[in-house]
Amino acid sequence: MGEKNTDEKVINLGEARLRAHDHIVRGTAADGQLRAFAMSGRETVQEMRDRHHTSNVVTAALGRLMMAGQMMGAMSKVDDELITLEVRGDGPVGGLTVTANNQGQVKGFAYHPNAWLPLRPDSHLDVGGAVGAGTLTVIHDIAHMEPYSSTIGLVSGEIGDDLTYYFAESEQIPTSLGVGVLVDVDYTVRQAGGFVIQAMPGCEDYVLDQLERNLAGVRSVTQMLEDGMGPSDMLAHLLRGMDYQELDAMPAQFHCGCDKDRAARCVLALGEREMRDMIEKGESADVHCHFCGASYRFAPEELEALLG
Ligand SMILES: [Zn+2]
Repeated sequence: MGEKNTDEKVINLGEARLRAHDHIVRGTAADGQLRAFAMSGRETVQEMRDRHHTSNVVTAALGRLMMAGQMMGAMSKVDDELITLEVRGDGPVGGLTVTANNQGQVKGFAYHPNAWLPLRPDSHLDVGGAVGAGTLTVIHDIAHMEPYSSTIGLVSGEIGDDLTYYFAESEQIPTSLGVGVLVDVDYTVRQAGGFVIQAMPGCEDYVLDQLERNLAGVRSVTQMLEDGMGPSDMLAHLLRGMDYQELDAMPAQFHCGCDKDRAARCVLALGEREMRDMIEKGESADVHCHFCGASYRFAPEELEALLG
Protein backbone atom coordinates (compact mmCIF):
# COMPACT_ATOMS: atom_id res chain seq x y z
CA MET A 1 0.00 0.00 0.00
CA GLY A 2 2.71 2.46 1.10
CA GLU A 3 4.65 1.81 -2.06
CA LYS A 4 1.60 2.37 -4.25
CA ASN A 5 0.95 5.73 -2.58
CA THR A 6 4.53 6.80 -3.25
CA ASP A 7 4.15 5.91 -6.93
CA GLU A 8 0.96 7.90 -7.14
CA LYS A 9 2.66 10.89 -5.56
CA VAL A 10 5.48 10.71 -8.11
CA ILE A 11 2.97 10.56 -10.97
CA ASN A 12 0.96 13.48 -9.54
CA LEU A 13 4.11 15.55 -9.10
CA GLY A 14 5.04 14.82 -12.74
CA GLU A 15 1.55 15.84 -13.85
CA ALA A 16 1.68 19.04 -11.82
CA ARG A 17 5.08 19.91 -13.27
CA LEU A 18 3.84 19.20 -16.80
CA ARG A 19 0.76 21.36 -16.35
CA ALA A 20 2.69 24.25 -14.80
CA HIS A 21 4.30 24.83 -18.22
CA ASP A 22 3.06 24.87 -21.82
CA HIS A 23 1.28 21.64 -22.63
CA ILE A 24 -1.15 20.03 -25.04
CA VAL A 25 -4.09 17.95 -23.83
CA ARG A 26 -5.89 15.41 -25.96
CA GLY A 27 -9.45 14.32 -25.40
CA THR A 28 -12.57 12.88 -26.91
CA ALA A 29 -16.29 13.59 -26.67
CA ALA A 30 -19.71 12.33 -27.76
CA ASP A 31 -18.69 8.66 -27.59
CA GLY A 32 -15.62 9.18 -29.74
CA GLN A 33 -17.47 11.11 -32.46
CA LEU A 34 -15.29 14.13 -31.73
CA ARG A 35 -11.59 14.37 -31.01
CA ALA A 36 -10.13 17.44 -29.38
CA PHE A 37 -6.82 19.08 -28.57
CA ALA A 38 -6.08 22.22 -26.58
CA MET A 39 -2.87 23.87 -25.49
CA SER A 40 -1.27 26.58 -23.44
CA GLY A 41 1.55 28.28 -25.36
CA ARG A 42 2.64 31.42 -23.51
CA GLU A 43 6.23 30.23 -22.93
CA THR A 44 6.55 28.89 -26.50
CA VAL A 45 5.43 32.17 -28.06
CA GLN A 46 7.50 34.25 -25.61
CA GLU A 47 10.63 32.28 -26.52
CA MET A 48 9.92 32.87 -30.21
CA ARG A 49 9.58 36.60 -29.48
CA ASP A 50 12.83 36.66 -27.51
CA ARG A 51 14.67 34.95 -30.34
CA HIS A 52 13.20 36.86 -33.30
CA HIS A 53 12.38 40.25 -31.69
CA THR A 54 9.02 40.32 -33.43
CA SER A 55 6.64 43.29 -33.41
CA ASN A 56 3.36 42.74 -31.53
CA VAL A 57 1.34 41.91 -34.63
CA VAL A 58 3.99 39.43 -35.85
CA THR A 59 4.19 37.88 -32.35
CA ALA A 60 0.45 37.24 -32.65
CA ALA A 61 0.55 36.00 -36.27
CA LEU A 62 3.55 33.69 -35.89
CA GLY A 63 2.48 32.61 -32.39
CA ARG A 64 -0.94 31.55 -33.68
CA LEU A 65 0.60 29.59 -36.56
CA MET A 66 3.15 27.92 -34.25
CA MET A 67 0.46 26.69 -31.85
CA ALA A 68 -1.70 25.43 -34.74
CA GLY A 69 1.39 23.53 -35.93
CA GLN A 70 2.01 22.08 -32.47
CA MET A 71 -1.56 20.78 -32.18
CA MET A 72 -1.52 19.43 -35.75
CA GLY A 73 1.81 17.74 -34.95
CA ALA A 74 0.22 16.21 -31.86
CA MET A 75 -2.51 14.69 -34.10
CA SER A 76 0.10 12.62 -35.93
CA LYS A 77 0.46 9.01 -34.92
CA VAL A 78 3.78 8.71 -36.77
CA ASP A 79 6.75 9.46 -34.51
CA ASP A 80 9.05 10.98 -37.12
CA GLU A 81 6.42 13.00 -38.97
CA LEU A 82 7.05 16.73 -39.37
CA ILE A 83 4.28 19.20 -40.19
CA THR A 84 5.27 22.41 -41.91
CA LEU A 85 2.83 25.31 -42.29
CA GLU A 86 3.73 28.02 -44.77
CA VAL A 87 1.76 31.24 -45.06
CA ARG A 88 2.55 33.60 -47.94
CA GLY A 89 0.73 36.91 -48.13
CA ASP A 90 0.90 40.36 -49.70
CA GLY A 91 0.72 42.12 -46.30
CA PRO A 92 3.74 43.65 -44.53
CA VAL A 93 4.74 40.40 -42.77
CA GLY A 94 5.36 38.76 -46.17
CA GLY A 95 5.32 35.17 -44.95
CA LEU A 96 5.48 32.82 -41.98
CA THR A 97 7.00 29.34 -41.78
CA VAL A 98 6.49 26.90 -38.92
CA THR A 99 7.63 23.29 -38.44
CA ALA A 100 6.34 21.03 -35.66
CA ASN A 101 6.83 17.39 -34.67
CA ASN A 102 4.50 15.10 -32.75
CA GLN A 103 6.27 15.69 -29.43
CA GLY A 104 4.90 19.21 -28.94
CA GLN A 105 8.02 20.90 -30.32
CA VAL A 106 7.84 23.74 -32.80
CA LYS A 107 10.10 26.27 -34.49
CA GLY A 108 9.21 29.12 -36.82
CA PHE A 109 10.11 32.45 -38.36
CA ALA A 110 8.54 35.44 -40.11
CA TYR A 111 9.91 37.00 -43.30
CA HIS A 112 9.61 40.49 -41.82
CA PRO A 113 9.64 40.15 -38.01
CA ASN A 114 9.41 43.93 -37.51
CA ALA A 115 6.32 44.42 -39.69
CA TRP A 116 3.96 46.89 -38.09
CA LEU A 117 0.32 47.86 -38.55
CA PRO A 118 -1.93 50.08 -36.41
CA LEU A 119 -4.44 48.33 -34.14
CA ARG A 120 -7.87 47.59 -35.61
CA PRO A 121 -10.76 49.87 -34.62
CA ASP A 122 -11.76 47.24 -32.00
CA SER A 123 -8.21 47.65 -30.55
CA HIS A 124 -7.14 44.11 -31.53
CA LEU A 125 -3.88 43.35 -33.33
CA ASP A 126 -4.52 43.32 -37.10
CA VAL A 127 -3.12 39.85 -37.90
CA GLY A 128 -5.24 39.48 -41.06
CA GLY A 129 -4.03 42.85 -42.34
CA ALA A 130 -0.39 42.02 -41.55
CA VAL A 131 -0.60 38.72 -43.46
CA GLY A 132 -2.76 40.04 -46.33
CA ALA A 133 -4.14 37.99 -49.19
CA GLY A 134 -2.24 34.86 -50.17
CA THR A 135 -1.90 31.13 -49.56
CA LEU A 136 -1.49 28.55 -46.83
CA THR A 137 0.47 25.38 -47.58
CA VAL A 138 0.50 22.37 -45.26
CA ILE A 139 3.35 19.90 -45.79
CA HIS A 140 3.42 16.44 -44.19
CA ASP A 141 6.93 15.04 -44.12
CA ILE A 142 7.53 11.48 -42.95
CA ALA A 143 11.07 10.07 -42.96
CA HIS A 144 11.88 7.89 -46.00
CA MET A 145 8.68 8.92 -47.75
CA GLU A 146 7.88 11.52 -50.38
CA PRO A 147 6.48 14.61 -48.56
CA TYR A 148 2.94 15.55 -49.53
CA SER A 149 1.46 18.99 -49.40
CA SER A 150 -1.66 20.93 -50.18
CA THR A 151 -2.24 24.63 -50.69
CA ILE A 152 -5.36 26.73 -50.21
CA GLY A 153 -6.13 30.42 -50.59
CA LEU A 154 -6.21 32.35 -47.30
CA VAL A 155 -9.71 33.11 -46.02
CA SER A 156 -8.87 36.01 -43.71
CA GLY A 157 -5.17 35.69 -42.84
CA GLU A 158 -6.23 35.44 -39.18
CA ILE A 159 -4.70 31.88 -39.13
CA GLY A 160 -7.46 30.11 -37.13
CA ASP A 161 -10.08 30.65 -39.88
CA ASP A 162 -7.57 29.69 -42.55
CA LEU A 163 -6.73 26.36 -40.92
CA THR A 164 -10.38 25.59 -40.22
CA TYR A 165 -11.00 26.12 -43.94
CA TYR A 166 -7.93 24.02 -44.83
CA PHE A 167 -9.29 21.02 -42.91
CA ALA A 168 -12.73 21.32 -44.54
CA GLU A 169 -11.35 21.88 -48.03
CA SER A 170 -8.24 19.70 -48.23
CA GLU A 171 -8.93 16.95 -45.72
CA GLN A 172 -12.77 16.98 -45.75
CA ILE A 173 -12.80 17.00 -41.93
CA PRO A 174 -15.28 19.32 -40.19
CA THR A 175 -12.98 21.16 -37.80
CA SER A 176 -13.05 24.09 -35.46
CA LEU A 177 -9.61 25.54 -34.80
CA GLY A 178 -9.03 28.56 -32.57
CA VAL A 179 -5.67 30.10 -31.66
CA GLY A 180 -5.02 33.32 -29.78
CA VAL A 181 -2.11 35.43 -28.55
CA LEU A 182 -2.49 38.41 -26.24
CA VAL A 183 0.54 40.72 -26.09
CA ASP A 184 0.92 42.89 -22.99
CA VAL A 185 1.74 46.62 -22.95
CA ASP A 186 5.42 45.80 -22.27
CA TYR A 187 5.51 43.56 -25.42
CA THR A 188 5.68 40.35 -23.39
CA VAL A 189 3.27 37.54 -24.21
CA ARG A 190 0.45 37.73 -21.67
CA GLN A 191 -1.64 34.83 -22.94
CA ALA A 192 -1.32 32.27 -25.73
CA GLY A 193 -3.22 29.10 -26.45
CA GLY A 194 -5.55 27.30 -28.76
CA PHE A 195 -7.84 24.38 -29.47
CA VAL A 196 -8.79 22.04 -32.30
CA ILE A 197 -12.03 20.04 -32.32
CA GLN A 198 -12.66 17.60 -35.17
CA ALA A 199 -15.54 15.39 -36.23
CA MET A 200 -14.55 11.77 -36.73
CA PRO A 201 -15.92 9.85 -39.74
CA GLY A 202 -19.62 9.06 -39.22
CA CYS A 203 -20.13 11.88 -36.72
CA GLU A 204 -23.86 12.50 -36.40
CA ASP A 205 -25.50 15.85 -37.16
CA TYR A 206 -26.90 16.36 -33.66
CA VAL A 207 -23.32 16.25 -32.30
CA LEU A 208 -22.19 18.92 -34.76
CA ASP A 209 -25.25 21.03 -33.96
CA GLN A 210 -24.53 20.86 -30.23
CA LEU A 211 -20.86 21.73 -30.85
CA GLU A 212 -21.89 24.71 -32.97
CA ARG A 213 -24.17 25.96 -30.17
CA ASN A 214 -21.35 25.55 -27.62
CA LEU A 215 -18.85 27.40 -29.80
CA ALA A 216 -21.30 30.22 -30.47
CA GLY A 217 -21.19 31.11 -26.79
CA VAL A 218 -17.39 31.42 -26.67
CA ARG A 219 -15.87 34.87 -27.13
CA SER A 220 -12.23 34.01 -27.89
CA VAL A 221 -9.32 31.80 -26.86
CA THR A 222 -7.53 34.71 -25.19
CA GLN A 223 -10.69 35.55 -23.22
CA MET A 224 -10.90 31.95 -21.92
CA LEU A 225 -7.21 32.17 -20.93
CA GLU A 226 -7.78 35.56 -19.29
CA ASP A 227 -10.62 33.95 -17.33
CA GLY A 228 -8.01 31.58 -15.89
CA MET A 229 -8.76 28.50 -17.98
CA GLY A 230 -6.01 26.02 -18.88
CA PRO A 231 -6.18 23.59 -21.82
CA SER A 232 -8.26 21.01 -19.88
CA ASP A 233 -10.73 23.68 -18.73
CA MET A 234 -11.06 25.04 -22.28
CA LEU A 235 -11.98 21.64 -23.70
CA ALA A 236 -14.36 20.89 -20.83
CA HIS A 237 -16.00 24.26 -21.50
CA LEU A 238 -16.14 23.96 -25.30
CA LEU A 239 -17.46 20.39 -25.08
CA ARG A 240 -19.83 20.94 -22.14
CA GLY A 241 -22.79 18.60 -22.10
CA MET A 242 -21.04 16.31 -24.62
CA ASP A 243 -19.46 13.72 -22.30
CA TYR A 244 -15.94 15.13 -22.67
CA GLN A 245 -13.14 12.79 -21.57
CA GLU A 246 -9.50 13.79 -21.30
CA LEU A 247 -7.06 11.17 -22.60
CA ASP A 248 -3.56 12.52 -21.93
CA ALA A 249 -1.24 15.52 -21.87
CA MET A 250 2.23 16.24 -23.22
CA PRO A 251 4.68 19.12 -22.83
CA ALA A 252 4.91 21.79 -25.55
CA GLN A 253 7.84 24.05 -26.32
CA PHE A 254 9.85 26.03 -28.84
CA HIS A 255 12.65 23.76 -30.02
CA CYS A 256 15.08 23.99 -32.92
CA GLY A 257 17.23 20.95 -33.62
CA CYS A 258 20.05 22.93 -35.24
CA ASP A 259 23.65 22.53 -34.01
CA LYS A 260 27.19 23.05 -35.26
CA ASP A 261 27.30 19.64 -36.97
CA ARG A 262 24.25 20.49 -39.07
CA ALA A 263 25.67 23.93 -39.81
CA ALA A 264 28.87 22.21 -40.98
CA ARG A 265 26.84 20.36 -43.63
CA CYS A 266 25.63 23.72 -44.99
CA VAL A 267 29.24 24.91 -45.14
CA LEU A 268 30.29 21.75 -47.01
CA ALA A 269 27.46 22.40 -49.47
CA LEU A 270 29.37 25.53 -50.56
CA GLY A 271 31.80 23.17 -52.29
CA GLU A 272 35.54 22.67 -51.95
CA ARG A 273 36.55 25.47 -54.34
CA GLU A 274 34.56 28.13 -52.48
CA MET A 275 35.84 26.89 -49.11
CA ARG A 276 39.50 26.87 -50.29
CA ASP A 277 38.97 30.42 -51.53
CA MET A 278 37.72 31.52 -48.09
CA ILE A 279 40.64 29.82 -46.33
CA GLU A 280 43.14 31.58 -48.61
CA LYS A 281 41.52 34.96 -47.94
CA GLY A 282 41.42 34.23 -44.19
CA GLU A 283 37.60 34.52 -44.16
CA SER A 284 35.30 32.61 -41.84
CA ALA A 285 31.96 31.13 -42.86
CA ASP A 286 28.83 32.14 -40.94
CA VAL A 287 25.72 29.98 -40.93
CA HIS A 288 22.53 31.55 -39.63
CA CYS A 289 19.50 29.47 -38.61
CA HIS A 290 16.30 31.25 -39.73
CA PHE A 291 14.17 29.14 -37.41
CA CYS A 292 15.78 30.04 -34.09
CA GLY A 293 18.19 32.89 -34.84
CA ALA A 294 21.32 30.91 -33.83
CA SER A 295 24.59 31.70 -35.66
CA TYR A 296 27.48 29.31 -36.23
CA ARG A 297 30.92 30.62 -37.23
CA PHE A 298 33.60 28.50 -38.90
CA ALA A 299 37.09 30.03 -38.76
CA PRO A 300 39.51 29.25 -41.63
CA GLU A 301 41.21 26.49 -39.60
CA GLU A 302 37.79 24.89 -38.99
CA LEU A 303 37.05 25.06 -42.72
CA GLU A 304 40.39 23.34 -43.31
CA ALA A 305 39.42 20.63 -40.78
CA LEU A 306 36.05 20.12 -42.50
CA LEU A 307 37.76 19.60 -45.86
CA GLY A 308 40.11 17.11 -44.18
ZN1 LIG B 1 18.04 26.72 -35.21
